[in-house]
Amino acid sequence: MDKRKVDIETVCVQGGYSPKSGEPRQIPIIQSTTFKYATSEDMGRLFDLEASGYFYSRLQNPTCDTVAARICELEGGTAAMLTSSGQAANFFAIFNIAGAGDHIISSSAIYGGSYNLFAVTMKRMDIEFTFVSPDATREELLSAFRPNTKAVFGETIANPALNVLDIELFAEVAHQMGVPLIIDNTFATPVNCRPFEWGADIVTHSTTKYMDGHGSAVGGCIVDSGRFDWSRYPEKFPGLCTPDDSYHGITYVEKFGVEGAFITKCTAQLMRDFGCTQSPQSAFLLGLGLESLHVRMERHCENALAVATFLSKHEKISWVRYPSLEGDKYYELARKYMPKGSCGVISFGVKGGRAAAEKFMKELRLGAIETHVADARTCCLHPASATHRQMNDEELLAAGVSADLVRYSCGIENKDDLIADIAAALDKV
Ligand SMILES: *Cc1c(COP(=O)(O)O)cnc(C)c1O
Repeated sequence: MDKRKVDIETVCVQGGYSPKSGEPRQIPIIQSTTFKYATSEDMGRLFDLEASGYFYSRLQNPTCDTVAARICELEGGTAAMLTSSGQAANFFAIFNIAGAGDHIISSSAIYGGSYNLFAVTMKRMDIEFTFVSPDATREELLSAFRPNTKAVFGETIANPALNVLDIELFAEVAHQMGVPLIIDNTFATPVNCRPFEWGADIVTHSTTKYMDGHGSAVGGCIVDSGRFDWSRYPEKFPGLCTPDDSYHGITYVEKFGVEGAFITKCTAQLMRDFGCTQSPQSAFLLGLGLESLHVRMERHCENALAVATFLSKHEKISWVRYPSLEGDKYYELARKYMPKGSCGVISFGVKGGRAAAEKFMKELRLGAIETHVADARTCCLHPASATHRQMNDEELLAAGVSADLVRYSCGIENKDDLIADIAAALDKV
């Protein structure tokens, strides 16, 4: 958009795309794998990253770039790219700066899929992770560092444990040790928290969740704050600071600056080689979703607070976790990082443990049992028997997931209807 400063709510609706006279008002879907050029030299310059432009949608596509630009503006970053999924976003954000023999520090309270990616699959690539408590102190964090540590990773609000990360502390320690902080901001969304404002360097998203918001397209996004100075640590980040032979020896930080190096390398090198790009169709749906993100987040949060308050007073509920509920362990952190509200997801235990939780869920009429979370329709899940079923009890505990935990994702329906549905289901337990 033009340089006039606008509120984030306006960026949701209009960011990243300003059509010229006579152009489509809505973001066009450029459903084309390839792009035509007049001369081979023109095309060669694109291949050498000497000119910017499109040549093949595995690397870049105008629809995807337009939507990425909107998310970039929402997060206040300098560059962004879409990926095929949130899993891909987290993988590439890390793999862009870490390889075999490297080490990453991650909060232990993270999405189950991310945990599996880090602890099992990336370990097979000889990238080792140390998992630290999301409540780790400065000293505990410092003691997790090794000479080969390349990044620190955490989630603004952990899915499904709902811990709020002390982003400022994690960023300070990461920077003291000369590595970036990567924050998965899926649950908070930039409407409620902008991690760059608290020192994070790279933000990732599963756009599948609130950003799309309608359960219609799997996708991910990586945003760079443009503030981490890779060139201060050339030995640590050789991929960004030394010549890339697969691009005629260009050095990303020299050629694209601190603001552009990370995303350019990730696009030019990793998307070229792995191809986990988002389709233009999905990007279009994501763009539509973003237009109402601020309106939906407000309602998600309003509903979640009402439901959490109701549950916290119910005799059949043993505990409730919702960061924006007064008295919650993370209430103060949530107020600091997310004064407008946290997210629409709450978790709680039904008295009677696993069996009672399953019975309760079966009796819901509005809340549907899904592995999904964070969309317009209310849904719920029993993580211990679904998303986190690969974990043993010890790992579950470290991830903040107890066997009786029900994750309940408040949609944007009427809150009194949701409460009545829950009350009726609890009566049957
Ligand atoms: C869902 C989720 C992911 C994975 O995203 P996909 O789009 O399902 O691949 C990563 N992080 C968080 C916090 C998530 O909730």
